[in-house]
Amino acid sequence: MHVFFKDRLTNEEVDVEAILAKIESKIPQHLYSEIEMIIVGWFEEFEERSINAFYDSGTIYVSNIQDDNADMYDDIVHELAHALEEVYGYSIYADEKVKDEFLRKRKHLHDILWNHGFKAPLAFFTEVEFDQEFDDFLYKTVGYDKLSALLQGVFLSAYAATSLREYFATGFTEYYLDPNHGFFKKVSPSLYAKIYQLQNPDELDNY
Ligand SMILES: [Zn+2]
Repeated sequence: MHVFFKDRLTNEEVDVEAILAKIESKIPQHLYSEIEMIIVGWFEEFEERSINAFYDSGTIYVSNIQDDNADMYDDIVHELAHALEEVYGYSIYADEKVKDEFLRKRKHLHDILWNHGFKAPLAFFTEVEFDQEFDDFLYKTVGYDKLSALLQGVFLSAYAATSLREYFATGFTEYYLDPNHGFFKKVSPSLYAKIYQLQNPDELDNY
């Protein structure tokens, strides 16, 4: 992985070399071999989509505005997950186990929100792709803090409920963020099993 700086990091404490070394020590090589480049800087897409990193054809674009090393590590590992969806999409999604688990959780979330007065049709919760209207419902109508509190024990984080892809990416990031996998395994067993399976290159179909 080569790092290029389009813009200088605003925080001098952030050490990109140390972050890369951490990635290389924690993540099996076959899971980041598709990444040719990491470009650090500020990109229009960040503003347009309210994000601070994205992946596009072999390159991770990550914000030059970072709180600390942990913040940037989190961003890069998250985008790595999206890169893997492209390379190993078949291995990740074809058996539909992660999708089924995600949809069960969405149904559960629907019921919890309904009981708390946020009454939205169930059909709203069965779309696995990102949907702006649903996103607004979660983050604006319900609100991030309330949502985070209500979905505890159902989803690992509020962001995981956004779409199937974010369910996968947040789980992947969690796996390499917290060495204690007990809670993850309990909350999202199918997703956990899938990420565990990714550790072994022999189990992967390269699509
Ligand atoms: Zn994402």
